[in-house]
Amino acid sequence: MVATRPLPRKRESRHHPCMGIKISRRSALGLAIAAGVASRVQGDTKMSAKPNWDSIVIGAGVFGAWTAWHLRKAGQRVLLLDAVGAANARASSGGESRLTRGSYGADEVYTRMAFDSLTQWKWLSDLSGLPVFHPSGIVFFFQKREPYVDQSLEVHTRLKLPTTVLDRGGLEQRWPQANWKDIELGLFEPEFGVLMARRAVQTLVKQYQKAGGEYRVGAVKPPDAAKALDGVTLDDGTTLSATNYIFACGPWLPKVFPRLLGPRIFVTRQEVFFFGTPAGDGRFSLGAFPGWADFNDGDIFYGMPDIEGRGFKVAHDKHGMPMDPDRGDRVASPGALSDARAYMAKRFPALANAPLNEERVCQYENSSNGDLLIDRHPTANNVLLVGAGSGHGFKHGPEVGRYASELLTGKLKKMEARFSLQTKADTQNRAVH
Ligand SMILES: Cc1cc2nc3c(=O)[nH]c(=O)nc-3n(C[C@H](O)[C@H](O)[C@H](O)COP(=O)(O)OP(=O)(O)OC[C@H]3O[C@@H](n4cnc5c(N)ncnc54)[C@H](O)[C@@H]3O)c2cc1C
Repeated sequence: MVATRPLPRKRESRHHPCMGIKISRRSALGLAIAAGVASRVQGDTKMSAKPNWDSIVIGAGVFGAWTAWHLRKAGQRVLLLDAVGAANARASSGGESRLTRGSYGADEVYTRMAFDSLTQWKWLSDLSGLPVFHPSGIVFFFQKREPYVDQSLEVHTRLKLPTTVLDRGGLEQRWPQANWKDIELGLFEPEFGVLMARRAVQTLVKQYQKAGGEYRVGAVKPPDAAKALDGVTLDDGTTLSATNYIFACGPWLPKVFPRLLGPRIFVTRQEVFFFGTPAGDGRFSLGAFPGWADFNDGDIFYGMPDIEGRGFKVAHDKHGMPMDPDRGDRVASPGALSDARAYMAKRFPALANAPLNEERVCQYENSSNGDLLIDRHPTANNVLLVGAGSGHGFKHGPEVGRYASELLTGKLKKMEARFSLQTKADTQNRAVH
């Protein structure tokens, strides 16, 4: 384990950044909500020796936004920064949609996180104008009864997660629009479904601002983290200071901490496709077909029904080539498109010649084995590193934010060894699916 230093004690009262008066945490939150807008900046460190914020969160993807939200809920003065904007097109959270599922084989930690996050996603979806969460259900299907199936079922039984096992006949009866000939069984999880990724993060950032959190666009320069940070510097030279700094920079983490995370986070190019469904044919739309994943002997394909007219989504979960999130082009490769088409012809024959509506190129930020990273920096003890979503992180956003916030505020009951920096190796050996 990486050594963790004593955490700063929580303060019972504080100066509200807008009012300059001493008030309780609860009143500060109430005042900010009543104001209905983000707190205004009172000036940066240049003008004041005292830190203006308890926490500065760098990166407004799904991990940073939920961390900022939970810290604000805990009564902290929080500044959320993003170089480009919340869930921007280059960010891993900037995609259209993401699956949420409970099946993780024996990796119960992720089943729990996905399930505990679901309540928070539903809360967000209820107050968002357009849905953030579509309870489409998820079917995960297998060519043969893999150990992963029984391990998932064992965890689901323990956690009381409703899951139906469907044999080939059951799958054919329920969803005749797919070809199930090579499939032995599927696990159907009715509670899970699809998250509208970009909308989710942007809605959350608005809620966070309504609750008095501050949000700004600004690119933070890589810090010298040899010891605790006094501040972070933006590209325009502004210095901002806080008690704690949370770096949730997704695929940029290896650039921000090149020596520490360069060898430990592997950024790969991933391509997704949306195909047009036949006019007047609702068989592949939300309500008629669930979110899905094909185990495919360990070489997973996954996708979603047509949601909001975007098209039927198909993606190959295989790690692509290394990618620079700033410079990598966003045009899908012909090879990936023909892979997706070949898969469609086999599994969804009615869509074999479907027109391509849209292609997206994004990046996974993989740890060596797929475990998340939520840990303190080894030398800068007021820096928290949050990332390594590894192609499955989005669904866990709410619980990642809660964990990170409780780690900082001293409320965390038990550290999860799998999230530690120490467990992040420098060779890839993917184990979490
Ligand atoms: C194609 C694809 C499909 C996926 N499918 C699923 C799925 O079905 N289910 C699932 O659960 N997960 C899925 N994932 C994984 C999930 O999307 C990611 O794990 C998650 O979005 C990572 O979020 P993040 O907040 O760590 O990073 P990001 O969303 O990339 O956010 C990082 C932010 O940091 C900002 N930033 C970077 N550097 C700086 C700096 N120096 N200063 C200020 N700001 C900075 C960036 O602008 C960016 O907005 C998928 C990912 C991809 C790419």
